[in-house]
Amino acid sequence: MSNKGVDQTLVLIKPDALKNSLTGYLLSQFSEFHTGLRFAGTKVVHVSRMLAEEHYTEHRGKTFYPALIEYIMGLAHFPGEPHRQRVIAIVYQGPDAVEKVRETSGPTNPHVAREKKPGCIRSLGTVVPLTNEEGEVIGQRMDNLIHASATPQEAEREIKLWFKPNDIPPCLRIYAPQQSQEPFYYNNGGLSTTYEPGSTCLFAPGDTAWESDLHALHLIQLGLPAPCTLQTVVAKYLVNEAGEGS
Ligand code: AMP
Repeated sequence: MSNKGVDQTLVLIKPDALKNSLTGYLLSQFSEFHTGLRFAGTKVVHVSRMLAEEHYTEHRGKTFYPALIEYIMGLAHFPGEPHRQRVIAIVYQGPDAVEKVRETSGPTNPHVAREKKPGCIRSLGTVVPLTNEEGEVIGQRMDNLIHASATPQEAEREIKLWFKPNDIPPCLRIYAPQQSQEPFYYNNGGLSTTYEPGSTCLFAPGDTAWESDLHALHLIQLGLPAPCTLQTVVAKYLVNEAGEGS
C-alpha cells in the first residue's frame, strides 16, 4: 500500500469538550496548518459499554475505571439525554502523527497540564474528585477533553476498534483489510457462522473487515488461542448499531 511509512493516530473529542462547545477550537488546534496532519476518517459515536470497556481495557480494575467508563459513554455529562451522549472519533494522518497530537494535547491530568504547559488543550480540562458512599475522596476523574493514542501500536489497536475499514477511504488506509468469505454472527456472547433468531450479523460474505479481526475470528471459531477476545472484535463492528447503546 502506498501509505506504508505514514503514521496515524486516534483522537476522541470527549463528552466534556462537546458540552463546552470546544469542537471547533480543537479541530483548529489539530488542523494541517498547525500540525501538518490530515483527516483520514471521522465519525460520531454513541459509545456502548462494550466499546468503552474495550477502549480502556488497560485501566480495568483501577479505582477510577467505573467513572472513566461513565465519562466516555457521556453518562457523566449528559445523564438522561442519550441523544447528547456521543464522542467524535477522528483518525489523523501524517509524519509523527502520534507524537504531534500528544504534544498539542499536553499532559493527561489537566492540573498538571496547566502547571507544565499552560495553553495546551488539556489545560482547559478539569479534575473531578470521586467519593465513596461515606463521602470520602477515593480517586479522581480527569475530564481532559480529548483522547490521544499513546504509541503507534496503541494507535493501530484503537483505530481498528473505533473504525471499520470502509470508514476510511482506501487511499488513506494503512492497515490491511480483507473480505470475509463466510458470514459471522454474534449471539449471547458467542460466535456462529449460521443464523439463529436473536443473532446479530457481524459480516456477510464479501463484507470488508480488518484482516487481523478475521484472523482472530477464525481462531476463536476453531477454539484456538486468539490474539484478542471475541468482545474486542464485536465491540467495533457493532459501533452505532441499534440496541448496543448501553
Ligand atoms: P491513558 O490511557 O493514560 O491515556 O488514560 C486514559 C484516560 O484515563 C485519561 O484520559 C484519564 O481520563 C483517565 N486516567 C488515566 N490515569 C488516571 C488516573 N490516575 N486517575 C484518574 N483518571 C485517569
